[in-house]
Amino acid sequence: MSDTEPEEKQLCTSCGAPNSPSAHFCIRCGAPLSSYAGIGPYERIFAEGFIYRQASERPRSLIVVLGIWIIFGLMATVGVIFLFTGDVVMIAMGAFALPVSLIMLWKTTKNYLMRKKIDQKSDV
Ligand SMILES: [Zn+2]
Repeated sequence: MSDTEPEEKQLCTSCGAPNSPSAHFCIRCGAPLSSYAGIGPYERIFAEGFIYRQASERPRSLIVVLGIWIIFGLMATVGVIFLFTGDVVMIAMGAFALPVSLIMLWKTTKNYLMRKKIDQKSDV
């Protein structure tokens, strides 16, 4: 029995940085580490935010772009529908959801197309 127990580290699955075993998010890149990070209400929003941020800034494949289009295309459609309900709360929600989803679609698609262009250039 020693009082200087070697501290176990958990490695970040996203960037490989060592984090304390009790950490919920990576100290270097902010990726969710623990299962708790996906369960807590605030942590869940944060974890999803990280996934969306990464997906929109570095869309690696067409599948990611399609996924973003399905999620935020739906959100934009719902936003438009809400604008025509005549209910103040619904209109406010629609007015928030519509630009947010359109920006996500625009950013993701633009980054994906630009990335593709750069890849093709470096191929030649
Ligand atoms: Zn990390």
